[in-house]
Amino acid sequence: MRRACETVAKIDSPGAIIIDDSYPDAKEPREWAREISGFPSSKVLSITGAAPIAKINSILKIESTTSAPQSHSPKILAIFDQLRSSPALLVPWAQQGITPLLLDDSGPAREVAPFVLDSIPGSRDSEANQSSTSFLNLPSRSIAANSEGPILISFGSDDPAKLSVRVASGIIDEIGIAPSRVQVTLPNNALEGSFHHEIDVLRNPSDLKTRLARYSLLICSYGLTAWEAIAAGIPVITIEPTRYHAKLSREMKIPSIGYINPKRGPFPLPRRKIVQLRHLMNSLSELRDIVHAIGDRHIVRTPDYGMVELLSSLEVPPPCCCACAKLLPPVIARFSRKSYYRCPRCRVIGLYSFIPAPRYTSEYFGEQYRRQYGGSYLRDFEHIKSLAIPRLRNISLRAKRGMNLLDIGCAYGPFLTAAREAGYRPHGTDISEEAVRYVREQLGIRAQAGAFPNEELINALPLKQYEIITLWYIVEHFPNLKAALRAVNQLLPMGGVLALSTPNSRGISGRRSLRKFLENSPMDHYSVWSPGFACRVLEKHGFKIYKTRITGHHPERMIPRVRSNGPFFKTAGLLSRLFRLGDTFEVYATKEREDV
Ligand SMILES: [Zn+2]
Repeated sequence: MRRACETVAKIDSPGAIIIDDSYPDAKEPREWAREISGFPSSKVLSITGAAPIAKINSILKIESTTSAPQSHSPKILAIFDQLRSSPALLVPWAQQGITPLLLDDSGPAREVAPFVLDSIPGSRDSEANQSSTSFLNLPSRSIAANSEGPILISFGSDDPAKLSVRVASGIIDEIGIAPSRVQVTLPNNALEGSFHHEIDVLRNPSDLKTRLARYSLLICSYGLTAWEAIAAGIPVITIEPTRYHAKLSREMKIPSIGYINPKRGPFPLPRRKIVQLRHLMNSLSELRDIVHAIGDRHIVRTPDYGMVELLSSLEVPPPCCCACAKLLPPVIARFSRKSYYRCPRCRVIGLYSFIPAPRYTSEYFGEQYRRQYGGSYLRDFEHIKSLAIPRLRNISLRAKRGMNLLDIGCAYGPFLTAAREAGYRPHGTDISEEAVRYVREQLGIRAQAGAFPNEELINALPLKQYEIITLWYIVEHFPNLKAALRAVNQLLPMGGVLALSTPNSRGISGRRSLRKFLENSPMDHYSVWSPGFACRVLEKHGFKIYKTRITGHHPERMIPRVRSNGPFFKTAGLLSRLFRLGDTFEVYATKEREDV
């Protein structure tokens, strides 16, 4: 909680919600302001896991004063800083359009959270988007304190097993440590009456990290404080309130006396735990060597890339499926700046992108295009135009010459040119003004600049006047696919033709390694299609497919090292066609009903 608040205070965000299970009650912002120095009280509202959802209204007010709800920006961060969250806990936030981000959470919510950040080392059941101890903002190694120096007992703001009291009594009464050497950290609301009167009690110290260097030993449970001590090179012994903590500290080989059942056991601690603790406390210099070795092995220090840098740069996508708006679909692959989900309702593979959306300026068809596809767009013009021949043949199965054709995302107009030559009356739209100017001035074809399906562009297009609408490699670029397909349906008259092409997640590349396929999928492909998904989603939006054509066959991807003049190339090509393993496909459909 402390770390999340410190981070949020430093980033450029109008508001953030930090959900933490270690505080029994929701706190008012001004309470935070008191606790963390330099903390802007207007910025963060803290909500505990059990807080009523009514609290969200006050948070949404921060957002609605600064932006339109659809734009999802500027960002509101909902940081779940808990040991284990459940998916059900995330849902109410997602319902309000707030995207949850998990921090060091090992609960089942990992399966559905759009972004997962791990900073505390240890194995988890599933991968994170980013994991590094550099997010912990750890202290540097300090000079060894006197082994007779003070001992700190710190079990955080929550201490269900009452370990602070039990350990303090144990080391004083059973091991014989002088009470004046012992210090204990306690949350604000905890009572201190149960401690020996000579013990120094620290109330929620905000500078714990910098104080650590003065101690000869820290006793705590596995977590941030333990890692701060390891980074500072202070001997540490852990005692764990859950078996999960015990597992993590065992994995990291941290000196520990293991798990203590919070509900059972004698006071102060079981006999054998006292024996273990005494044994460890008698060899502080050995403990220091162990801690140094753990630090060398696990701690990464990247001074210019911590939580503040990461959270400041994160763009926050809406927490739902782009095709059917289902909340928090299960995530199937995570990368540092993106996650992919597979929607159980509509079966689309969708992208959560955490970087700003690329802008389709002249730059897109220049440098960016070259980087992504190799070659320049205008030089590819004739090649792209030649692709139009089979496409127009398939369109002509349900359309006639002389009909009006709208090509959405027409770029510099290769398809429009081919359509005009085939006898259609073409009209283009594109987000790039430069491309639209080229189409108008150099090709003499009508064209409209604008981002489909923005209201302004839709209003500029005549309704039910285009008998044919084409989208060549455009559908995957719609952040809100549902709205885009709905707009296409509304533009088309009944019986009108919709033709599109898009990458195929069921092609040879996607089948060989879906993870690799998704890793290589561009950051502006929000939906990854398959022929099966095309069928479902188009039907849902009022279309009926009359032809699917699998394209993008790559025999060389079927069999490693197959040469284009070798004997297997032809066979591989045949197999690819037979089993429909092309990496792209085209769909031709007619409008059967209104999408209401
Ligand atoms: Zn869906």
